[in-house]
Amino acid sequence: QRVVVSPAQIQDGTITLEKTQSHYLQRVLRLKVGDRFIAMDGQGQTWLAKIGETVATIIEPVAVDSELPHWVTLAIALPKGSGFDEVVRQVSELGVARIVPIISERTLLQPNAKKQARWQKIAAEAAEQSERSIVPLIAEPIQWKKYLQSEPSCGQRFLCWERGDSPALLDALPQAAVELAIGPEGGWTTAEVEAAVAVGYQPVSLGKRILRAVTAAVAVMAIVAAAQER
Ligand code: SAM
Repeated sequence: QRVVVSPAQIQDGTITLEKTQSHYLQRVLRLKVGDRFIAMDGQGQTWLAKIGETVATIIEPVAVDSELPHWVTLAIALPKGSGFDEVVRQVSELGVARIVPIISERTLLQPNAKKQARWQKIAAEAAEQSERSIVPLIAEPIQWKKYLQSEPSCGQRFLCWERGDSPALLDALPQAAVELAIGPEGGWTTAEVEAAVAVGYQPVSLGKRILRAVTAAVAVMAIVAAAQER
């Protein structure tokens, strides 16, 4: 019973719900005027609110403690088809803070603004369902080479690479913010691995078996979440 609202919807202790949000609360969840629900701004603030005739009223702030202790960024090469939809949903449920869709040499999917908006909506739905206090941010798709040249986000950086003799991700993880990169179905090219290592990425293994790209992204997030919360 949770909806993500934007700051523009909140004024003087009231929330002006969008049509889709009212529909969700009243038709899908069957809440009535006077019933309570949770509103979140997706950036860490959460409130208990009450449905009114025209607007909802904020009752009080609610403390939510469901975020991982350290910020996790996943840079994920776009898989073909609709595979990224499921990746976004699952890693958002597991606690990712930021997702960067990567266009690598072997990426087949052509991203566009419509797809990015859909991924952001999926991330919001996943955050609502997992009772998180933040909605993961979906960055604009970017070429891997360009991304490597950009300002690094905070934290140690790991490159998931199924070749070579890399340490296990679980053993390499610090108790701190991290960024992890997962390649496409065809894998990273040697040049892409070398370019990443040159700017400080540490190659890591997810085990002896080769995982599908979408499975690898979800496995990475599960390992990081478990390591941070142990
Ligand atoms: N051909 C399969 C597919 O259709 O998805 C395999 C793709 S695998 C090459 C895709 C990415 O998952 C790799 O670039 C790597 O980032 C990650 N990956 C998969 N298995 C891995 C492993 N055992 N260790 C480290 N990374 C792995």
